[in-house]
Amino acid sequence: MRIDIISAVPDLMTSFFGHSILKRAITNKLVEVNLINLRDYSTNKQKQIDDYAFGGGAGMVLSIEPIAACIADLKSKRTYDEVIYMSPDGELLSQKLCNQYSLLKNIIILCGHYKGVDERVRQHLITKEISIGDYVLSGGEIPAAAFCDGVIRLLPGVLNDETSALSDSFQDNLLAPPVYTRPAEFNGWTIPEILLSGHSANIDKWRHEQSVERTKLRRPDLLK
Ligand code: SAH
Repeated sequence: MRIDIISAVPDLMTSFFGHSILKRAITNKLVEVNLINLRDYSTNKQKQIDDYAFGGGAGMVLSIEPIAACIADLKSKRTYDEVIYMSPDGELLSQKLCNQYSLLKNIIILCGHYKGVDERVRQHLITKEISIGDYVLSGGEIPAAAFCDGVIRLLPGVLNDETSALSDSFQDNLLAPPVYTRPAEFNGWTIPEILLSGHSANIDKWRHEQSVERTKLRRPDLLK
């Protein structure tokens, strides 16, 4: 899978992709992530990429020209399955959406900034809009990073234990069961006996019951 992320401040994401699971996925060539600086596509002497909003009002708007030039450049080199714009009014990101997108080959992600992007970008160049929740952040970089993380960890070979992602919350509409690690006792706080039994079938059964209990308690809507 190849992900091209267009941003006004790509450096915000460098560290994110440079550590832990995502770094390993990139190093092992399970995914290719390119951070593209929108300013590189400005034809303006000051490398300007934004302008005042027509009709007035506070806040700058990312201009269509550099964005269109950047997307055209990428599209001239390969075919893309989707051109995504991170936006608070897009479809709410979910595990289902991550599962779907993990099957794609090439995607472009556009991060907005300031007041957002010129609406014509959304009308003519974007094929999908995704939100990470009903709140507004300053830029699309954290939303893009969250989306990429959710997708990349599902790619075959990224997680050490191939089945690990399947036992996470929201797969099968269940929340994950509680997990514990050593020491078995801390401050007099113990762990459920069953986990020390070595009986894997019983442990699986217990985990499933815990998942169902937790889902009933915290997210009964998922069980409907
Ligand atoms: N004026 C816009 C918000 C702009 S915030 C509005 O009210 O809808 C600046 C940029 O941050 C957006 O263009 C978008 O790319 C990103 N962004 C902010 N909050 C987001 C969210 N919840 N989900 C996805 N992207 C978001």
